[in-house]
Amino acid sequence: EQTRAGAPVPTDRPAHVRRVLAVASGKGGVGKSTVAANLAAALTARGLSVGVLDADVYGPSMPTMLGVSGKPEYRDGMIEPHTAHSLKVMSVGLLTGANDAMVWRGPMASQAITQMLTQTRWGTEAAPLDILVVDLPPGTGDVQLTLIQKTPLDGAVIVSTPQEVALADARRAHALFQKVKVPTLGLIENMSGDVFGRGGAEAEAARLGVSFLGDLPLDAALREAGDAGTPLVSADRDGDTARRFAEVAARV
Ligand code: ADP
Repeated sequence: EQTRAGAPVPTDRPAHVRRVLAVASGKGGVGKSTVAANLAAALTARGLSVGVLDADVYGPSMPTMLGVSGKPEYRDGMIEPHTAHSLKVMSVGLLTGANDAMVWRGPMASQAITQMLTQTRWGTEAAPLDILVVDLPPGTGDVQLTLIQKTPLDGAVIVSTPQEVALADARRAHALFQKVKVPTLGLIENMSGDVFGRGGAEAEAARLGVSFLGDLPLDAALREAGDAGTPLVSADRDGDTARRFAEVAARV
């Protein structure tokens, strides 16, 4: 079992969860949630049992991207997560109206996330969850710092687009994880290609001394699948984009 050394704030680990992996980005709109949903689907395709915790208090998008809705049920003192596309799903957007969450301050947000983390039945003793993917809110401010301090993260992947403005924010995200001693497992380049350029994240990963986990192209099908509530990786397992996600999943 991996645990992180030297964490400044004691944290409760969720029961029966082997690994907690954060998906982060220094700024919004780079495709963090799209990557989180499809990476989770690619991990299930590797035979792992996977959960998704949507902790993006500014704009929870997992209910839409994974096609789940409705307040989760409580049973025996635990929240029952939704199941969709073989994933266990819990979202801050299912507890409140999607628009209420974004006005939360750091302490309130982290309290809600801690509750979703530790009081959701992600796994059982007989069937533990292999990996919980946490979709963090974008940015590197106080809310994010509080959240990552209080959440027992075993590692983080940082999503960036290739251009310098996004990479500068990815650097800040890496610095934030270093501050709380959560290992950055690597950078992922999203929307890689003609429009935004290519290769920026790989070069940045080399500068930061972290792994480059792969690049994902601009792909209209990826957006359409997300809007329709099915990760593209689940809908089109053999496509080029799914293959790239499979490569990233093999590296985290
Ligand atoms: P974030 O979580 O960083 O705010 P999202 O995952 O919500 O970003 O993505 C923002 C928008 O861009 C969504 O409409 C999503 O479908 C789309 N998108 C993300 N990545 C890609 C991609 N590689 N190709 C095409 N559209 C994408």
